[in-house]
Amino acid sequence: MQSQRNSDGAIPSGLPRKRVTLFTLGGTIASVHSQGADGVLPRLTAADLIRAVPQLDAVAEVRAVTFRQLPSVDLRLPDVLALAAEIRQELAGGADGVVVTQGTDTLEETAFLLDCLVDHDAPVVVTGAMRNPELPGADGPANLLAAVQVAASTTCRGIGTVVVMNDEIHAAQCVKKTNTASPATFQSPGTGPLGWVVEGRPRVLFHPRQRWRLSVPPEAAPAPVALVRLGLGDDGWLLQAVAELPYQGVVVEACGGGHVPSWTVDTLASLAQRMPVVLASRTGSGEVLRATYGFPGSERDLLARGLVAAGRLDGVKARLLLQLLLMRGASRADMEAAFQM
Ligand code: ASP
Repeated sequence: MQSQRNSDGAIPSGLPRKRVTLFTLGGTIASVHSQGADGVLPRLTAADLIRAVPQLDAVAEVRAVTFRQLPSVDLRLPDVLALAAEIRQELAGGADGVVVTQGTDTLEETAFLLDCLVDHDAPVVVTGAMRNPELPGADGPANLLAAVQVAASTTCRGIGTVVVMNDEIHAAQCVKKTNTASPATFQSPGTGPLGWVVEGRPRVLFHPRQRWRLSVPPEAAPAPVALVRLGLGDDGWLLQAVAELPYQGVVVEACGGGHVPSWTVDTLASLAQRMPVVLASRTGSGEVLRATYGFPGSERDLLARGLVAAGRLDGVKARLLLQLLLMRGASRADMEAAFQM
């Protein structure tokens, strides 16, 4: 069958132009110096980002929406819930795909949330930049072009939400920022990317077989969830403090396959009587164990005392999933099932 695309990803004349909506949230990709301020700040708009990449015009008609102008650590869950609602509206209105740009610091979290909250065949692509537009070798323009190529591509339909950075396509549920400064910072430990973009053409080898699909009632109040990482000799004080604070759930990033110091077990067990306590691993890849070790503070011990295994999600993503589940009023059984997927 003849390809509908030129080697640079452009659509030959005669075919209808693809429609992609770009939502910008700030971050390094939009950060420049402004008068009187030290350091770069997220000031560029969606229209500014599009203007810097004239090659986009040959790929799709891109509608610009400046949604937020923030460093990504200042984004909150309600921002992403509002973004997901707007994305669903754009796709219902006929857009072929969506691109979101934001800071890379929390990019994997926005991508994971959108993957859970947007249930549509059209690709949702999240990207950013590690080098701001004023630096030599700025990666934002190339990342934006590749992201739009993926969002507009027919072969990427059904892929869910992906992160496109450095010409790689990563599943939102697997990807994480692994380096403070490298343009190759986004990796999917243990699985690798789903595909890549070469000469403007997205090449997808795998589609994620399972995805979380959740809706949250628009009136639901945010559910605060603590994320506590444990280490050698941890005194357990932070876990004790959690019980005194208005948290509705806790995620514990335990050692190895899901192990904590024996002297913290009573605190965790009593927390688990009051709220969901999810057991994740701090290792950064692989699944939490369920049935191997028998020492006090082992995964078997903790699960028997009422903790919920995080499955293959790391602590950062487990925290978001637990927040969504709490906002939905999920039962204990629903939570167990969601984390086991
Ligand atoms: N500090 C930036 C942010 O907003 C970092 C980045 O975009 O790479 O996350």
